[in-house]
Amino acid sequence: MTEAWGPEDGRRSGPVRIRVPAKINLHLSVGPLRPDGFHELTTVYHAISLFDELRASPGDTLALTMEGEGQGELALDETNLVIRAARALAAHARVPAYARLHLRKSIPLAGGLAGGSADAAATLLACDALWGTGLPRDELAEIGATLGSDIPFLLQGGTALGTGHGEVVSPILARPTTWHWVVAIADGGLSTPEVYRELDRLRDRGQAPVPLDTPDTLMAALRQRDPKVLADVLGNDLQAAAVSLRPALAGVLAAGADAGAITGIVSGSGPTCVFLASDAAHAERLAAALTSSGVCREARTARGPMPGARIT
Ligand code: ATP
Repeated sequence: MTEAWGPEDGRRSGPVRIRVPAKINLHLSVGPLRPDGFHELTTVYHAISLFDELRASPGDTLALTMEGEGQGELALDETNLVIRAARALAAHARVPAYARLHLRKSIPLAGGLAGGSADAAATLLACDALWGTGLPRDELAEIGATLGSDIPFLLQGGTALGTGHGEVVSPILARPTTWHWVVAIADGGLSTPEVYRELDRLRDRGQAPVPLDTPDTLMAALRQRDPKVLADVLGNDLQAAAVSLRPALAGVLAAGADAGAITGIVSGSGPTCVFLASDAAHAERLAAALTSSGVCREARTARGPMPGARIT
């Protein structure tokens, strides 16, 4: 820590507010388990209008408070991705990690919507502005990738192809279209590593569906701007594993189909399910039907694509 960079310096800038979206995966193909314990992924990320908000103000230490989803459940200590992201940026930029951070969480915990990664992306952007470190987004994304594979995408947003472990992100350029979704939030989360282990077990026993092919047809469907065309090509290799661990998800997907969704899919590692609607009014009707069916804790409408983490 340099003498010239005391907490007073941090007080020079005012509070910074960031809004960051959740992600869903329109396509998620999981390669075989490699000897290093990782799976190669090809995914199409899509940022939706379900947001966490992070406020960063000057402080004499690094402190995190929160409200909303996961309050009282999510540890606010050094294990929290917000604190880890702030420390990683401070170490990279060689500045002291002084900030008061407050998180307003709407993205459910361990829901397959990458809420923790979203918060880390928001923190990198917030602290970069608060501390005046002025790093380009690419460099923030590189720091983010050391903490979680979805973080580079959540800095970028939109609809994008993710490769490697998901951290190599390229935007998908399609004519601007708004897609309408209903997000069915479950009671309780699913552990992402556990879902991957279940997929490996199902594959070992020959019980997993045929792995998804490349996302080429999905990318072509995005260009057609027709929800029925998109519905036919959504796919998630983790879905069978999530349903195997949480059989009630089959009932959620069936309830969405009964309520008239064009299609439904497990989001990432679950247990959140997302349903495609034809327009905003259809999404409202679907959300009401799913909420009253009692198969999920809550159903919310959402639009996509949305921009990534942004200062508000
Ligand atoms: P992913 O699909 O990226 O694995 P997810 O949406 O299933 O994520 P998250 O809500 O991102 O799940 O969180 C996964 C775990 O990360 C949580 O159970 C929690 O232990 C840890 N975590 C650390 N910091 C955070 C945070 N700020 N918000 C949510 N979870 C966090």
